[in-house]
Amino acid sequence: MFSLHEKEDTIVALATPQGVGAIAVIRLSGKDAIKICNSVFKGKNLESQDSHTIHFGTIRDGDRIIDEVLVSLFVAPKSFTKENAVEISTHGSSYIVNQVIKLLVRSGARPAKPGEFTQRAFLNGQFDLAQAEAVADLIHADSETSHQAALNQMRGGFSGEISKLRAELIHFASMIELELDFTEEDVEFASRDDLRILVEKLLRVVEQLISSFDLGNVIKNGVPTVIAGKPNAGKSTLLNALLNEEKAIVSEIAGTTRDFIEDEINIGGVIFRFIDTAGLRETTDVIESIGVSRTQEKMKTASLILYLFDLTDSSMEEINRDVENLETLGVPFIKVANKTDKSNTQFINELKGKFPDTIFISAGQKENLEALKNRVLELVNLDKFRTGNTIVTNIRHYDSLVKTRQSLLDVLEGLDNEITNDFLAMDIRRSLHYLGEITGEITTDDLLDNIFSKFCIGK
Ligand code: GDP
Repeated sequence: MFSLHEKEDTIVALATPQGVGAIAVIRLSGKDAIKICNSVFKGKNLESQDSHTIHFGTIRDGDRIIDEVLVSLFVAPKSFTKENAVEISTHGSSYIVNQVIKLLVRSGARPAKPGEFTQRAFLNGQFDLAQAEAVADLIHADSETSHQAALNQMRGGFSGEISKLRAELIHFASMIELELDFTEEDVEFASRDDLRILVEKLLRVVEQLISSFDLGNVIKNGVPTVIAGKPNAGKSTLLNALLNEEKAIVSEIAGTTRDFIEDEINIGGVIFRFIDTAGLRETTDVIESIGVSRTQEKMKTASLILYLFDLTDSSMEEINRDVENLETLGVPFIKVANKTDKSNTQFINELKGKFPDTIFISAGQKENLEALKNRVLELVNLDKFRTGNTIVTNIRHYDSLVKTRQSLLDVLEGLDNEITNDFLAMDIRRSLHYLGEITGEITTDDLLDNIFSKFCIGK
């Protein structure tokens, strides 16, 4: 954990990615941020400038000019960290960046630890813990939906709901604790019936947040998807066709340097993560046939199954049996008939009669993939992502919510069994504690360390 002394330091780090770019931004935060920058800056006297102004000048090490820069000033408390802060925009070479940071360190700043800027923002009351974590999520968001969930959380959507619940419960806790002071008199400040109503209401909200985690997880990590089918059905051809389309889209966007993840495909703003892609690629099929139990286990972990069969090499009985097997899994699946370029129309018509919702494609010829993608999006039910409902995406929050649920259930059980007030108060306090963990009203140093160390340096 950072000592008090460390919190007084002025910290410095590169805020933009490592490597060559048009511009690099070096950020300073702390009491002496402006003073330290001023000591190596030639241009205006930065210490007498207004907040939120930008200044052109040079960064100099003695007489040696390192770079021409733009300096943006943020005077406390009007900055991200609520401290004095400076952003120096240099030319984007790593040599210049290293020289400038070294010079700033020699002049009194200290290299920032991972997440230290965000941690200071949190400690100085800029936002609560759930929002701080959302900053990390936002940086790592790589699809429209994960971006939206993180943004929503950063703006306090999630925390607002939790804080409201907590406030109501605090009221009851204090009433019951007050009763403890009047044990002789047999008074009741807090109606047990009202408490039960509140706790039941809280439980419903907590349950809903807990169940949103599945969705949240999907948004953050992608919809786990399996392509299942016999060997030679065309599974790897289909995966490659989908991947190549996306690669083409990605490379068309000039200047994008996004890492290409081999088993993730962005369809309509939702990430789909294909399970066992490696197996597909080596064509030593992990998914041998739908009936094999090992295959079934794998498919149960998916949120979506693409059941792919070869029109030229499947009988109606076979398809029927596979579909029946798939229906027992309880995972949404799409029947995808492949190799339309080679099959006969009679079989296709027969299939259309029996399974009207089959999607007919040719993975090899990249035909009708749009229809497949549309069906995929229909099945994951995009509306769920877009309602603006609070969605839990963070495993730590999920954990605290599960503990909150347990302690709320304990409160209910206590009410049923008419336990004494001191025990009742304890159960309520426990619920409050877990709810507070989410927003950071209750924190431990370990917890903070753990959260902020996951940030990258400069954030
Ligand atoms: P997997 O074993 O299910 O992964 O199947 P593959 O993707 O390796 O495909 C098996 C064979 O079918 C390969 O020779 C592919 O070129 C071929 N294939 C895949 N899709 C099509 C298609 O749409 N039409 C035709 N004619 N052949 C295809």
